[in-house]
Amino acid sequence: MPLADEASAVLGSALRDPNVVLRYPAKIVTVPGSDCLWWSGAVSGRGHGRFYVGTVADTDASADGAGQGERELCVIAHRFGYALVHGASALNAVPVLGHGCDNPLCQRIGPDHAKPSSHALNRRAYLARWFVAGNPLGMPGVPGAGPGSCVT
Ligand SMILES: [Zn+2]
Repeated sequence: MPLADEASAVLGSALRDPNVVLRYPAKIVTVPGSDCLWWSGAVSGRGHGRFYVGTVADTDASADGAGQGERELCVIAHRFGYALVHGASALNAVPVLGHGCDNPLCQRIGPDHAKPSSHALNRRAYLARWFVAGNPLGMPGVPGAGPGSCVT
């Protein structure tokens, strides 16, 4: 999803800031037997890496005015990695990065890992993998079970 103008500007600055750029690979580790580059920093509820790139104005106007000021801007880590490789404008043109490796923590940019996709394609790939026994995207604890399946 394209970022708002202010967030896009902060991301652009972050991509040019050596301190931010060097923090990114410092949070990536390799795992023996895996081709993925694993995020070891903060993780979102959806299992994606979270990477803080700067601050933006906090426009959350509560009744007492609390909450206004600045807040940390967090981006999905593999999207930051994509922008490092291809640039911020290329990232803005990509609505979704899908993971061909089914590893939402993976930071490797490439056709078998984090790659450009769309909401429809990503959803289709997710549902197709749901039914594959042993796939990490499948229903937890029920190998091969998928949406609508009965568990007896
Ligand atoms: Zn991967």
